[in-house]
Amino acid sequence: QQTLNRIQQTEPLLKSFLHISNTLLAQADEIDKKLERNENVGPLAGVLVAVKDNICAKDMACTAGSKILENYRPAYDASVVRKLRECGAIIVGKTNLDEFGMGSTTEGSAYQVTANPWDLECVPGGSSGGSAAAVSARQCVVSLGSDTGGSVRQPASFCGVVGLKPTYGRVSRYGLVAYASSLDVIGCFGTTVADAGILLQAISGHDKHDATSSKREVNDFTSQFIAKEHFNSQPLKGLRVGVISETIRDGVDQEVVSSIRGAISHLEELGSTVTEVSLPSFSLGLPAYYVLASSESSSNLSRYDGVRYGNQIVSDELSSLYGGSRANGFGPEVKRRILMGTYALSAGYYDAYYKRAQQVRTVVQNSFKEALDVYDILISPAAPSAAYKIGEKKNDPLAMYAGDIMTVNVNLAGLPALVLPCGFAENGTSRLPVGFQMIGAAFDEEKLLRVGHIFE
Ligand code: GLN
Repeated sequence: QQTLNRIQQTEPLLKSFLHISNTLLAQADEIDKKLERNENVGPLAGVLVAVKDNICAKDMACTAGSKILENYRPAYDASVVRKLRECGAIIVGKTNLDEFGMGSTTEGSAYQVTANPWDLECVPGGSSGGSAAAVSARQCVVSLGSDTGGSVRQPASFCGVVGLKPTYGRVSRYGLVAYASSLDVIGCFGTTVADAGILLQAISGHDKHDATSSKREVNDFTSQFIAKEHFNSQPLKGLRVGVISETIRDGVDQEVVSSIRGAISHLEELGSTVTEVSLPSFSLGLPAYYVLASSESSSNLSRYDGVRYGNQIVSDELSSLYGGSRANGFGPEVKRRILMGTYALSAGYYDAYYKRAQQVRTVVQNSFKEALDVYDILISPAAPSAAYKIGEKKNDPLAMYAGDIMTVNVNLAGLPALVLPCGFAENGTSRLPVGFQMIGAAFDEEKLLRVGHIFE
């Protein structure tokens, strides 16, 4: 009831949700009854989880922020949703996003614009802006997002919450609406590192429905979330931290750089050794990402033909049924990606764009691997600036893409990363949060969570 009241109070201003469950109280009652009967209720009993609306949940619509899926009701739960329900969690509702996850502000939703809880005139980031805003405004306890090129980490930074992008393959993508399948991962938002880690624990692990999910064993991340008084004075002694030097130079807001410097000092106080490390391939990631993500999305989105899913423009002629449904159902950013991707994949251009971008991806992967052989974790800002005004970059796609510079490399390399609040930027009337990103070796979420928990 408390959560419902909170949502009622804040939702008209924020618009984080596209759908709110109408069975919340009934589900809570169900758990109370089980408790009375001394039945097992699961480790997340009654925990209120919001889910990005590109992740399927049986009893709710799943629009992926697109008009083309306006009336789509999935017949099944995504594996992550199934696992959460099995743990006793309650799905609060489905959160707003940029259409199919393509965007960095949540302004690209076909339905509504979500506001940043810290300043209602600013964007919450994106594409998982609804999930980040919902946690930030305490409309739920934790939430799920998806991260193809930064969509969990950048909104976490903009909204002052913790965002966790797991290693590619750590979490099943079954039931996640595909954007770029070789980059997509489902990630977690929480107000603390422990919350995000407990959520990750619940959704991790191999799934026979997703051939790319890893068979590696999932360690218990949660046992390390011990109370702070049990730490000694230098709990991070021996930890080698590399600051990616390319990320704290030109083109990054001064207040962001000084917040990162503050985080560095704090890491040093806690005992770690911090050194700058250069990753010369860092700036290559952005163009490679946009070629690869657009290419994969142009292929993935070919399934929306007006026949199998969603809205249809009725026509006697098949090609105009397809064409009309797609012209009417997709928004401008999605069409732009389809055009770019189709171009990059077309005969005659494939070698120059797609193949070249794949080669860059390998270079990026190798440079991270080399750096992570020397350092335990790498750090950088999560975004070059704090949140900006709604509308500021909406009509300037290139400026919007440029804002993803800090996050996309991590997806190209498939690595885990954790974003934590570390400072503020003043924007005249309000204070906006700034986050920093810690990048770890593949499948070493445990270390990121330990360091993050000690840091916060
Ligand atoms: N902003 C990036 C894009 O538009 C990343 C989005 C995401 O991670 N889903 O592609």
